[in-house]
Amino acid sequence: MNSETTTLVKKLLDGQKNIVIIGHKNPDGDAVGSCLALSFFLKKLGHNPTVILPNDFPNFLKWLPGTETILIYEKNIDHCRTLISNTDLIFTLDFNSLTRVGIMENQLVKSTAKFIMIDHHQQPSDYAVATYSDTAMSSTCEMIYVFMETLGGLHYLDRKIATNLYTGIMTDTGSFRFPSTSASTHRKIANLIEAGAENTTIHQNIYDTNSPDKMKLLGIALNNLVILPEYHTAYISLTQKDLDDNKFRKGDTEGFVNYALSINNIVFAVIFIENRQENIIKMSLRSKGDFSVNDFARTHYHGGGHLNAAGGRSSSPLNTTISEFISILPAYKTALSK
Ligand code: 5GP
Ligand code: MN
Repeated sequence: MNSETTTLVKKLLDGQKNIVIIGHKNPDGDAVGSCLALSFFLKKLGHNPTVILPNDFPNFLKWLPGTETILIYEKNIDHCRTLISNTDLIFTLDFNSLTRVGIMENQLVKSTAKFIMIDHHQQPSDYAVATYSDTAMSSTCEMIYVFMETLGGLHYLDRKIATNLYTGIMTDTGSFRFPSTSASTHRKIANLIEAGAENTTIHQNIYDTNSPDKMKLLGIALNNLVILPEYHTAYISLTQKDLDDNKFRKGDTEGFVNYALSINNIVFAVIFIENRQENIIKMSLRSKGDFSVNDFARTHYHGGGHLNAAGGRSSSPLNTTISEFISILPAYKTALSK
């Protein structure tokens, strides 16, 4: 965080404040972990923070310290609106544009509060008075660590903050293996373990709590896998019926796309998931090397994210979405063959 942003943030945090902290829609480990860690930190600085998430988050995150204090906007609209209207400082974490908060967008656009953005996604928008954006960072949780350090607050690192930060860094780095994982990430992780993050328990809580239904759904997903060797591409599709037949719960499909990417010679993987309620096909895109799924998702699917991990959506039916996707690939043949 540069000195200009640091000075501004210090000024904005002067005195005791009611603060709202917001993460993105369909919150993941990094969004939930960074919001909770920041909330605990701001409390230690004497503020009164509240975490609001647009919609619910997966069960495998519900053990994180502080989750019982989180407000889900779509379940507590009136209360959340009042909080947002009455605050003059809003932190937005782990997203780069107000379009990423779903039905909360209007409320935020109307707000007269000052915004502080902390995020590692590409192409940050400029709604915040203080923007701490670093696309080289593995995760927003790693940035919260730096944020605490820059404000001279690392001595406040306790078990609860460390556990949240460890979890977000772990989930966003694919357990410390994606290229965004640096030596400095590992040093921070070492400090988080020393501060009380129990690495084995955290891994087990996140990765070893699968339901039998989720494993059956994974079986169907793998059965639906299609490989396009010419384009070093593999994709998976799941219909709403596949989800319903296997009692789909939020978060059940997280990580499925990585199986497609794990295939030898595959550099681009996509999962298409039908969502009848929203009448869209939600897509998760992943790549290896320098093929930018951020660009691909922005160009074709109203989405974005990072170089190697992005999301997007299509409003065509599932079959049409897939055939359109296949028809786009020839234009990327050279890029996918590198
Ligand atoms: P996932 O595929 O796990 O949902 O998301 C991968 C990455 O892309 C995450 O960093 C996520 O925040 C981002 N992302 C997911 N969906 C969207 C989207 O619709 N728009 C944008 N801009 N980013 C997205
Ligand atoms: Mn993130």
